[in-house]
Amino acid sequence: MPELPEVEALREYLDEHLTGRVVERVLPVAVSVLKTYDPPLTALEGQTAGETARHGKFLALRIGGLHLVTHLARAGWLRWQDALPEQPPRPGKGPLALRVALRGGGGFDLTEAGTQKRLAVYVVRDPQEVPGIARLGPDPLDASFDRDAFAALLAGERRQIKGVLRDQGVIAGIGNAYSDEILHRARVSPFKLAASFDGEQVTQLYAAVQDTLREAVERAHGVAAGKLKAEKKSGLRVHGRAGEPCPVCGDTVRSVSFADSSLEYCPTCQTGGKPLADRRLSRLLK
Ligand SMILES: [Zn+2]
Repeated sequence: MPELPEVEALREYLDEHLTGRVVERVLPVAVSVLKTYDPPLTALEGQTAGETARHGKFLALRIGGLHLVTHLARAGWLRWQDALPEQPPRPGKGPLALRVALRGGGGFDLTEAGTQKRLAVYVVRDPQEVPGIARLGPDPLDASFDRDAFAALLAGERRQIKGVLRDQGVIAGIGNAYSDEILHRARVSPFKLAASFDGEQVTQLYAAVQDTLREAVERAHGVAAGKLKAEKKSGLRVHGRAGEPCPVCGDTVRSVSFADSSLEYCPTCQTGGKPLADRRLSRLLK
């Protein structure tokens, strides 16, 4: 799933390639992706693209006086095409969800792999009309998001830190992969309660949030859209690496179920050497 660094790289890429281009046609290939009906997709046609903005994991493409907003969800992707196929796309075949053809040739596709269709597209007059954007917490890369702003978010928060970091309403842009990476870097258990961090631990975690995201943005910078997924994976130290050695201490990275998926962590670096109990599994065995 693309998270803040990958969406930021896509934003930069679109700013460079899309700005100033005129939208010729917008083809919704999978009808279910479009979540709004007024204004219609056709209102974008003939309009010139302006800058692209990022809101958490959402991309907002300014086209004329409107915004084409997308959330790529778990298996979605944006694929830039210097030349589009001559044949019009056929609905129901393959991962293509929406195609934007540009005047003068080329354009981009929004695609979604797998059977769970969660990719969402909105055409709005203001990005804040998208409910998922309206409820976003602060962006961790925003200049005003300092250590004390972060501390204020954690204070009184009774949930485990892993879930808090992933909650888009608390902080925007961090998902399952980068929350694992942040907690590993900060040497913190993913199950530690957010409110139980002392001042020094908050400072350490804040630094881990900043360093992890900024390094990932730096790595993704200038990487072609089609190569971003591989680039993301190569930079991860624990996420998706259960069974592999921790690059810091050599202990074996472990996986444990969490919410609707699983998380990865290093016991030596993060939990005093003790593996976390898989609550889902132990509940089943009782
Ligand atoms: Zn380790």
